[in-house]
Amino acid sequence: MRRRKSTIFFVVFGICLILFAIALQVGWILLNLQQIAMLVFGIIFFAAIITGLVLNTTFLVREIRRNEQQNAFLNAMTHELKTPIASIKLYLETVKTRDLPEEKRREFYDVMLSDSDRLLNTVEQVLQASRTREKKRELNYSDVKIAELIAESVRVVRSRYNLVKEEIVVGDFDNDITVEGDLSELKTAFGNLLDNAVKYSNDEINISVRGRVRTGGWIDIYVKDNGYGIPASEVRRVFRRFYRVPNESADNTKGTGLGLYIVESIIKKHGGKVFAKSRGIGFGSTFTVRLPIKKKADSPE
Ligand code: ATP
Ligand code: MG
Repeated sequence: MRRRKSTIFFVVFGICLILFAIALQVGWILLNLQQIAMLVFGIIFFAAIITGLVLNTTFLVREIRRNEQQNAFLNAMTHELKTPIASIKLYLETVKTRDLPEEKRREFYDVMLSDSDRLLNTVEQVLQASRTREKKRELNYSDVKIAELIAESVRVVRSRYNLVKEEIVVGDFDNDITVEGDLSELKTAFGNLLDNAVKYSNDEINISVRGRVRTGGWIDIYVKDNGYGIPASEVRRVFRRFYRVPNESADNTKGTGLGLYIVESIIKKHGGKVFAKSRGIGFGSTFTVRLPIKKKADSPE
């Protein structure tokens, strides 16, 4: 709330300064009509001041917004780290102090394991995001079969969320289609898209992954869900670092806002594109990844 107030204050302050400078300039022009040389000089001078003020205000507003997002990220991050640790601690204490039947004990171990997986996931996500920012990092290029890449990513997400097969439907992918890329990075990208699709689904999960070859040597891969959907105004923003759509129904789904930022950087590094589409709240979303298909060097002709 305080931030919002200070944002409004600075915006109003900036606008007042701009108006003041314009008034000054107009008044000055009227008073000094005779002195043409001075006039020209003055106009340039005041224009420079006004430009400076506009730039300054824009910068300030952007900076304040970024600060807000970073705060939200820190909160989410703390939550993401604290929850599994607290849970593991609780289970460990129970196992230590009580004489539990073997079956119960095993069940507790499973919960602890999945909590530590979650913890590891969060840490890896943050590491990946900072790695992504290092522009120079070399990718480990190889030929990646799309069919295998998708199958593997789907398998990982199915087991992470204990999904039955029907909850993620995979379309037919031609076994011959390969792209040139870094397998583990591409897996991270599709893992994140699928993770979102599950996370932002309602109770009934209904996800599909399909591919379509396009003219010009591209393949489109669609990850479609029937979950919350994304409001039209947010469709572009979701790829920004730390950005999370403010959404009441999704308030209890926690995250760092890094996932799609990572996805976009990875896909861009592979010469591709990713974009989101949604018919609005409640109508699900579709994320499309477009990658260049690798030409077959040893084709028979
Ligand atoms: P993380 O992936 O790091 O755990 P996150 O899921 O919040 O955190 P992103 O994956 O970058 O971050 O997603 C950014 C935001 O975009 C999400 O907070 C969510 O509001 C929105 N979003 C992403 N995918 C979907 C989807 N399939 N359906 C609806 N909203 C989505
Ligand atoms: Mg995510």
